[in-house]
Amino acid sequence: MSKRNIKTIALVAHDNMKKDLIEWTQFNKGTLINYEIYSTGTTGKLLEEKTGLKISKLKSGPLGGDQQLGAKIANGDIDFLIFFWDPLSVQPHDVDVKSLLRLAVVYNVPVACNRATADFIISSPLMHHEYERVIPAFEEYKHRKIDLD
Ligand code: PGA
Repeated sequence: MSKRNIKTIALVAHDNMKKDLIEWTQFNKGTLINYEIYSTGTTGKLLEEKTGLKISKLKSGPLGGDQQLGAKIANGDIDFLIFFWDPLSVQPHDVDVKSLLRLAVVYNVPVACNRATADFIISSPLMHHEYERVIPAFEEYKHRKIDLD
């Protein structure tokens, strides 16, 4: 189990959803300013320009940024993922998107994939309190027997 306040938020949006995320971020700027924010490259650049928030920018999503975020989740460095993925367009890095969302589930990280969910999470009292997020130790999986015969 890990017990700590929400400190680090990841913000990502596919191209057709970037306007939505910029609007949402502008609206919540007063809250978000208290958190460390990571974004994939293009999302981060636009968010910085349009909101003035300081964003730690990774590589662009299709160039490895989603994977970098996934690695951060596996390392326990992301407390809340907002990922406005595009439900109506094919993405060249679809497998990376799936992988990022999968790792968020594996490590029990709260994920918002649309504005309504992001609104509910950011207005939750749990954002401001120490929260005990259960992170499975995966002991059974790590010690599983591999049949090599
Ligand atoms: P981008 O990547 O912010 O560099 O556009 C978003 C994504 O993961 O698709």
